[in-house]
Amino acid sequence: MLSIENVRSAYGRIEVLHGVTLHVEAGEIVTLIGANGAGKTTLLHAISGVQPIMDGSIRFAGNPIEQLPAHMRVGLGISQVPEGRQLFEPLSVKDNLRLGAWSRRDEDLEPELARARAMFPMLDAFWERPAGTLSGGQQQMLAIGRALMAKPRLLLLDEPSMGLAPNLVDHVLAVIRALKDDKLTILLVEQNARAALAIADRAYVLETGRITLSGTAAEIAADARVRDAYLGI
Ligand code: ATP
Repeated sequence: MLSIENVRSAYGRIEVLHGVTLHVEAGEIVTLIGANGAGKTTLLHAISGVQPIMDGSIRFAGNPIEQLPAHMRVGLGISQVPEGRQLFEPLSVKDNLRLGAWSRRDEDLEPELARARAMFPMLDAFWERPAGTLSGGQQQMLAIGRALMAKPRLLLLDEPSMGLAPNLVDHVLAVIRALKDDKLTILLVEQNARAALAIADRAYVLETGRITLSGTAAEIAADARVRDAYLGI
């Protein structure tokens, strides 16, 4: 579904991705773990097209996409749930969802809106309320729901558990698992490595712009360096 080879990216003259190679197979949850500043968000932005790359290739479903603008990548089936949710806070829950379907705005969105209501019951009661008035957990559900409105095949999730209470982290993880069961392919960036490895099929460790480890989630969770640096064991 997604194949990234030797991707390099920079902010101005400062290179932060130094030749990243990874792949995500259809139907997988792949997690990318790494410390603050490793380049995880930059890599997601490179895939969704909001961060340019200097070198390397990004293929989606076999086709090169690295030259395409972000909105065309959404049209192909890539949606991103950004770090910090980035909702349109003054707009209602419903309008945030409708904006997520901007690439399909000429279609009948009612079935997708009904699906979002059913999938995220906690949003239903706040349907006409401004998104900015929701709790952190509700906002995260809305951010995921908004991304799903574009009917993606690949969902990029950036730190979905950030700032949430433990019971809500479990809820978000359960939602991500359910999306996989619905045949969505997921690339999950998480600082909460323990939680991410619990639901992922495979994992990569990104350190200062380089992939330093990869394997099944079980292999990565058992790796002594990961246990020491990321799992606090
Ligand atoms: P975090 O978990 O803190 O979000 P991350 O692994 O997602 O970390 P990035 O946000 O991709 O890391 O940042 C990678 C590097 O690029 C860091 O050194 C960061 O300071 C730098 N960086 C990120 N965004 C910008 C920007 N807009 N301009 C300049 N430098 C940036």
